[in-house]
Amino acid sequence: MKIIGVTGGIGAGKSTVSAILKEMGAEVIDADHISRIVTQPGEPAWKEIVEHFGREILLPDDTIDRKKLGRKVFNSEKKRRKLEKIIHARVIHEMKERIKSLEEAGYDGIVVLDVPIPVREGFLDIADTVWVVVCPDEERIRRVMSRSKMERADAESRIRSQLPQEDYIKLADVVIDNHGDMETLKRKVSGLLNS
Ligand code: ADP
Repeated sequence: MKIIGVTGGIGAGKSTVSAILKEMGAEVIDADHISRIVTQPGEPAWKEIVEHFGREILLPDDTIDRKKLGRKVFNSEKKRRKLEKIIHARVIHEMKERIKSLEEAGYDGIVVLDVPIPVREGFLDIADTVWVVVCPDEERIRRVMSRSKMERADAESRIRSQLPQEDYIKLADVVIDNHGDMETLKRKVSGLLNS
């Protein structure tokens, strides 16, 4: 089994690279998807978040009111860290469980860890190799606007709120420049897989 950690800033093409690898037969473990599952009512991260931040961050149906929670942690580095720690710990746990199940089932192919936040401990350190997808910011803005039907200012502020691409690159074993069309990206991914 070979574990590839795929990461990159919003709009650079991380999910697209994961989707291409999936098409080529890889098993994809999506950290974003897992984080949504573990924060559902009654799930482990949900319980810890409610214990720590109180029931006032819940909507009437007990789901987390992300806006309220966001406002609560917005001005406090300490609270934001605590929230991240709760979610990361549970996501990492679940990712490791999924890898273990694949191993137990005798899976011997490629596993992709699709992680939007490049955290070394627990995410990238369990990958055999880390691929970072990058793209010029102007192109990222255009892609985010069209993917998420977002205004330009919102797309720009989402990009600005993240780590700069240079910080992602520092973590990379492989940098994929996604400044080109889909076919070019597919060729690059296929080349890397076969190298
Ligand atoms: P990320 O996961 O990094 O936020 P996505 O993979 O979702 O980014 O890509 C953002 C948007 O750009 C998506 O709508 C995707 O289909 C599109 N996209 C990604 N790569 C390319 C490319 N090489 N050419 C054209 N569109 C692309």
